[in-house]
Amino acid sequence: MPMYEYRCTACDHQFELRQKFSDPPASSCPQCNGTVEKMISSTAFALKGDGWFNTGYCPKTEAPKPAACSGCACSGE
Ligand SMILES: [Zn+2]
Repeated sequence: MPMYEYRCTACDHQFELRQKFSDPPASSCPQCNGTVEKMISSTAFALKGDGWFNTGYCPKTEAPKPAACSGCACSGE
């Protein structure tokens, strides 16, 4: 079953869902019920991550997750 990664546009919570192809995509954040967007792939996101963070888009200091762990099973925690 493929794993999909989502990110909440409201609280920046990131989570993974294991879904069948036939399942509908997640539409709300499990933490704040905000709008979520599907991340294209964890690898692509990690490569682009620093650029995003450096723009100040993400409050990196509030979410000190190592980029190397953002896509792996340990989730950096
Ligand atoms: Zn949220």
